[in-house]
Amino acid sequence: MSEAMIIRGGHILDMASGTDTVGDLRIEDGRISGIGHVDLSGASDVIDAAGKYVVPGLIDFHVHAFEGGSMFGCDTDMEIPSGVTTAVDAGTTGCAAYESMHSLIHSRKMRIFSLLNISSMGQLGKGFNENMDPELVQAEKITELVKKYPDEIRGIKVRISRNIVGSWGDVPLRKAIETAGKLGLPVCVHSTDPCIPMEDVACILRKGDILCHVFHGLGSTILDEAGHVKAGLRKAHDRGVLMDAANGRNNFAFGVAREALAQSFLPDIISTDLTAATMSQGKTVRNLLFVMSKYLNMGMSIAEVVERTTAVPARAIGLTDGSGSLAAGGRADVAVLDLIDQECDFADSKKEILHGTKMLTCLMTVQNGQILYDSNQLAHA
Ligand SMILES: [Zn+2]
Repeated sequence: MSEAMIIRGGHILDMASGTDTVGDLRIEDGRISGIGHVDLSGASDVIDAAGKYVVPGLIDFHVHAFEGGSMFGCDTDMEIPSGVTTAVDAGTTGCAAYESMHSLIHSRKMRIFSLLNISSMGQLGKGFNENMDPELVQAEKITELVKKYPDEIRGIKVRISRNIVGSWGDVPLRKAIETAGKLGLPVCVHSTDPCIPMEDVACILRKGDILCHVFHGLGSTILDEAGHVKAGLRKAHDRGVLMDAANGRNNFAFGVAREALAQSFLPDIISTDLTAATMSQGKTVRNLLFVMSKYLNMGMSIAEVVERTTAVPARAIGLTDGSGSLAAGGRADVAVLDLIDQECDFADSKKEILHGTKMLTCLMTVQNGQILYDSNQLAHA
């Protein structure tokens, strides 16, 4: 019999299966083999999780992972001590440099998926925006890469800020949707200071597409002049367009987020938009737990926040191996978290500060049944 690990007596939150209960988790051969009252025999590790939250390994749906190939690129393994087991690179690379990105992905412990930039050059860094001439989109090369790496490339990314698309307007967005449509992939749209009104962007998107930076505060936002969430955004959401509150330094404003939450317009996904400049530093992003804590301090529940960093992002990129869930038989990606009383300041793109009193911390990260991080030596043979 193979050796098993038991995580005992934790508060299990698995929103994919609607599990919100105190119980045990049994892990064997990289899989969840039991949940609730589990068989304790043959366990090599018994981890006491009493008073802690046991959740699926977190999925950071928007990061910039192309370290060395883009000035935005960061070492996503640095998020492992934050309970993150899976990250999605949001268009740092286009097809020109994708083979390098592919090699880098396989040198990391973090499991990384990609949203391929519609622009061949991808996002090189601050001050070097990608060329958005739709005539330069290399659909054949994109198709070739998607067919070569179907388990890795899960969508197409396009940025439509006014300073990026210039006179092309919404043509690149339509081109991205057309290209992704032929490949059966979703489109993820960077929407800060959009070239057309936010409601028009939302209206163009299809079910399963992702509108990222949904709480940005530059140019046209999701709010009308009276501060109400625009009807077009609600309609798109009802159709199945996913709203991703990818944070970043410049893509999140408390003024927008607070109004939206007060009007029950919650994000579907919460992610960081981490870059080399924000990884583990500053008051805007730091890591996924920091961004999740921001929403707890704005009044969302831990179950709501966990769902948006596990079950929903797993669905958004079509993960079918049990990622984002703790259901028996699925892949054993698990995080043990604690919610502590801690004063903390959170900043937004307009330098507004939220004084928080709650902070999520991570005690253990398990990926595919292996302990990658154990802050307090919880595990013992
Ligand atoms: Zn980004």
